[in-house]
Amino acid sequence: MTSPGRTEQAAPRPHRHLAEERDTVQHHVAHATAARLRTIREQWGALLAAVETPPASRAWPPTETRAFLHTGADDEGALLVGDRAPLTLRSHPAPANLDALDAALFVEQQVFALADTLAAAVQHAAAEDPRRWTYQDPGAPDARTAAGSRAHGLHWAAAYVEGRVLDEDTAPEHDEAGRLVPAPFSLLPEHLLHEAARVARACEQRVARIVAADAITGSRVLPTPCPSCGGALVVRAAPAEPPTVTCRTGAACGAATGRDALGRRVWEWPACLPLLLTAEQEGGETLRAA
Ligand SMILES: [Zn+2]
Repeated sequence: MTSPGRTEQAAPRPHRHLAEERDTVQHHVAHATAARLRTIREQWGALLAAVETPPASRAWPPTETRAFLHTGADDEGALLVGDRAPLTLRSHPAPANLDALDAALFVEQQVFALADTLAAAVQHAAAEDPRRWTYQDPGAPDARTAAGSRAHGLHWAAAYVEGRVLDEDTAPEHDEAGRLVPAPFSLLPEHLLHEAARVARACEQRVARIVAADAITGSRVLPTPCPSCGGALVVRAAPAEPPTVTCRTGAACGAATGRDALGRRVWEWPACLPLLLTAEQEGGETLRAA
């Protein structure tokens, strides 16, 4: 771009290069964080179902949840939890699984607080704008108004955070009268993007511990073979990451999924979830013995 003769323009180039590199990293962090937030939303129904399922039951996840998890259809997940009030507004006289309830409350609290933080920093949307996040108002006359946007539940809060992470609606807009009005949100500062990334990672991990509990402890061979080549499937999970499943066959396996650094087929979270649940269903006993 810069002509060789114009030396005065050569100096800023390293800076521009660094800025581009930083933008690429931020872009990657933003998209990885958005993907984690989507996983949390998609698995929210399974987590709420777990709250009502005794952990000792070998039938976990219950049949209807398995069906939901196996379809992988986002819309069905949304329908399943769409009408459910946030946990903070519900009473739980006798939750069947306290770990699941604890995880769900943790995720709600973290995502709600993150939405508060991001809104305080970048939100300019008008009061009547449906995209606006509203804070809690303890003085309000009824519980739903007092809860602000929290009343819409985890799904809405996670979608709100996702929008801020992806810098959506950050350009000036035309109002109903056709006048140009300022953008409802400003670009998310880098330190808040990293805060959002940290929260999304922690929440996804808490969800994964409940909905795929067996997969979280170390690495082991699944009792069911690779759906593509019939080779052995290995599930792995580092303490701070959700599980992944790898086919041991290596490069020769033709499964329709990504490859790891060694060329082996690997199913990342949550794509590996159906494999884990199938294994749970077919080989629960052998697995316990191993
Ligand atoms: Zn395979």
